[in-house]
Amino acid sequence: SNKIKLGVVGYGNLGKGAVKAIKATEDLELVAVFTRRDPEALELDDPDAKAVHIDNAGNYQNDIDVMLLCGGSATDLPEQTPYFASMFNTVDSYDTHAKIPEFYQMVNEVATKHHTTAIISTGWDPGLFSLNRVMADAILPNGENYSFWGKGLSQGHSDAVRRVNGVKNGVQYTIPSEEAIEQVRSGANPELTKSGKHRRVCYVVAEKDADKAAIENEIKTMPNYFADYDTEVNFISEEELERDHSKAPHGGFVIRSGNTGEANKQIYEFSLTLDSNPEFTSSVLVAYARAAHRMSQENQFGAKTVYDVAPAYISPRSAEALRRDYL
Ligand code: NAP
Repeated sequence: SNKIKLGVVGYGNLGKGAVKAIKATEDLELVAVFTRRDPEALELDDPDAKAVHIDNAGNYQNDIDVMLLCGGSATDLPEQTPYFASMFNTVDSYDTHAKIPEFYQMVNEVATKHHTTAIISTGWDPGLFSLNRVMADAILPNGENYSFWGKGLSQGHSDAVRRVNGVKNGVQYTIPSEEAIEQVRSGANPELTKSGKHRRVCYVVAEKDADKAAIENEIKTMPNYFADYDTEVNFISEEELERDHSKAPHGGFVIRSGNTGEANKQIYEFSLTLDSNPEFTSSVLVAYARAAHRMSQENQFGAKTVYDVAPAYISPRSAEALRRDYL
């Protein structure tokens, strides 16, 4: 077929989302899911999908146009992206912001040498938020950028809550401060502290007979995680946790307020409200797979970021259709 052929590396939250996202397109097809675990034991949601051990991925160089790398940023991608970029075009969602420059350097060396196109750090942040920070900054030089995250489930903070004595289970949401957002939207260019931008809300299932006041106090005073924030602790039942808090919502805002001319206020705002962070993130990866394939066909090799990819490259539609219907 004429479809762009994709592999998915790693079958966690993002990998599962990627398989679903590929299904929702007409121009892309899934060849196989690659995993470090026993492929026989992997339960794929899609009956048509095939699981292969990651050590055999090299045999697929003629059958796959782009590999979607769905591993974790902490330890998987620093290994997997250079390894796969030596054989395939790749897309990943590497999100350790502070280390992106060195990650880029390392991947760029491999991809340049092996004539592959490796699009790094896609998703929403980094990814769509990064694009909007740059657009807003370029257009309104006389202004200030603000990024807010949430309402979102934070894995690290949820883990911290679950480690508290007497806690059976729990989740933590990071919630942007409405007041701070309104200040930014008003064009006041406020100086905001970390704790002034976000508050934290916990839903906790306590062990039977646990001291709830002690749990609440331990959470609220936990250094680094909660102590500096306005933190709310709610006790709920196991059923409620299961029913109301088993999704992975996220989202946020990028806002720039600036002035043009004499004193005209201009507010640039981009926001996302996501029911499922991993399903959205992997949908972004899947769209950028088109770009990796097309750019490699034009010999645009090396590591690329969202800044290097023209929007038309990620669209399934023709340039003519885009001019006619979307411009
Ligand atoms: P995850 O579910 O922990 O999966 C990571 C890897 O762990 C998988 O590729 C899988 O590899 C392995 N794994 C998953 N479930 C497993 C299990 N039950 N037992 C053993 N191994 C398992 O991570 P994720 O939620 O997909 O997130 C991946 C990364 O995406 C995050 O680290 C984050 O950096 C990034 N991210 C980026 C954005 C953005 O906006 N840029 C947004 C969200 C997330 P194998 O199949 O090889 O075992």
